Amino acid sequence: MTQRTLSIIKPDAVARNLEGAILKMIQEAGLKIIAIKMVHLSLEEARGFYAVHQQRPFFDSLTGYMSSGPVVVSVLEGEGAIDKYRKIMGATNPENAEQGTIRKAYALDIEKNSVHGSDAPETAETEVAYFFSRLEMVR
Ligand code: ATP
Ligand code: MG
Repeated sequence: MTQRTLSIIKPDAVARNLEGAILKMIQEAGLKIIAIKMVHLSLEEARGFYAVHQQRPFFDSLTGYMSSGPVVVSVLEGEGAIDKYRKIMGATNPENAEQGTIRKAYALDIEKNSVHGSDAPETAETEVAYFFSRLEMVR
């Protein structure tokens, strides 16, 4: 099934000029970029995006970090895009990430882990809508 998923190249990766290298890995996996932009989230915008993690102990640190610098947000489309992207991202904690994944190659630690990807069709839809209007996506 063709799916869409939201990708964020996080501040740690953008700060190290890794957008191109990460987008290359995404494209080599066969995922199509159908929308893309660079944004610098405010703390409130980061808190809104990660609202599901509000009760987690790392919420303040995570949202502070996510609003600390620019990010590259994109919508990826392809067969099974949600799971496919999570597979090439690798485990949340880079110490557990498999060889060949984005997080294995670039993540600094469990928080500064270079990329975000939606985890299910419902969250993908909400997250895409958080950043992009229909007009901003190539159809
Ligand atoms: P993402 O949602 O960013 O794609 P994920 O689904 O692999 O990552 P989640 O459990 O949804 O992981 O956590 C969201 C983000 O919160 C992680 O990507 C990471 O940046 C941060 N995070 C998760 N667990 C921890 C932790 N124990 N300590 C610090 N930060 C954490
Ligand atoms: Mg997640």
